Amino acid sequence: MTTIAFIGLGNMGNPMAANLVKAGHTVHGFDLLPENLKTASEHGITVMASAAAAVKDADVVVTMLPAGKHVIAVYEELATKAKKGALFIDSSTIDVDSARRAHSIATGAGHLSVDAPVSGGTGGAAAGTLTFMAGGSKDAFAKAEPILKPMAGRIVHCGDAGAGQAAKICNNMILGISMIAVGEAFVLAEKLGLSHQALFDVASTSSGRCWSLDTYCPVPGPVPTSPANRDYQPGFAAALMLKDLKLAQEAAQSAGAITPLGAEATQLYSLFNALGHGGTDFSGIIRFLRGDVGQ
Ligand code: NAD
Repeated sequence: MTTIAFIGLGNMGNPMAANLVKAGHTVHGFDLLPENLKTASEHGITVMASAAAAVKDADVVVTMLPAGKHVIAVYEELATKAKKGALFIDSSTIDVDSARRAHSIATGAGHLSVDAPVSGGTGGAAAGTLTFMAGGSKDAFAKAEPILKPMAGRIVHCGDAGAGQAAKICNNMILGISMIAVGEAFVLAEKLGLSHQALFDVASTSSGRCWSLDTYCPVPGPVPTSPANRDYQPGFAAALMLKDLKLAQEAAQSAGAITPLGAEATQLYSLFNALGHGGTDFSGIIRFLRGDVGQ
């Protein structure tokens, strides 16, 4: 079994690290927040006094941090402190440019490096069913795969450095746009006197079918497990959707891609967040489209 340093034990990191412990690994964890360290020790994670202490004896370093600047700061600090040839895995959702920079910091110091962002949320983190989208060399991926397995439902090697982050933001741009499309269709149906169930029954078996409709339906009723049935408690918070849409826009700008619907979705989620709904599920955008909240 492997000694793994886990840096960033928040909503996602804590349950992910707990699954590594359950799989028999020794996990040395660190977070800046004492309450997260307390939860971590309840999960069998060995709490360390600093990130440097956590990586000292580790063969693998996993990071699960808020944004690119945190990942770069931690990589800059740890690259020279980790064992030579350690495997660095960053599972945070960050911008593609920072992901590539993190790779070069790690590989420049003689380590292996994989970017491996996830989808599946806190539920998937607890259940060990996250989808990992990985970027990095074949060798690095081959070493990362068995480490990721206890946390994963699915692991896809998407390509070289940054490819995991690229896949994540492209997927979430589809999701943000499609949720708005489905929300608009339900709002139009309401105005036309068409019931939610009738639209669902037709569209979920026709060409309008998509995940935002058939698994995460933004109106209560047709899909009983969707957040619409619990007053849009997340799920996947609108603030995190906005973060991912902004990352997609940054990447589009830097790569010269034209993404008009992605840009429009970013605007709509910015307004929804600015009105104070960042903590609600992203499917709650239908209430904004309907005019129910603050327009
Ligand atoms: P979170 O804010 O709960 O956790 C991040 C943790 O990093 C915090 O506990 C913070 O104290 C810690 N941290 C920050 N700087 C640190 C440092 N220098 N050293 C040690 N710890 C440090 O966030 P989260 O919900 O766990 O998300 C983590 C990442 O996963 C984000 O990039 C997010 O976009 C992504 N993500 C989240 C979800 C979700 O549903 N929450 C889903 C998929 C991806």
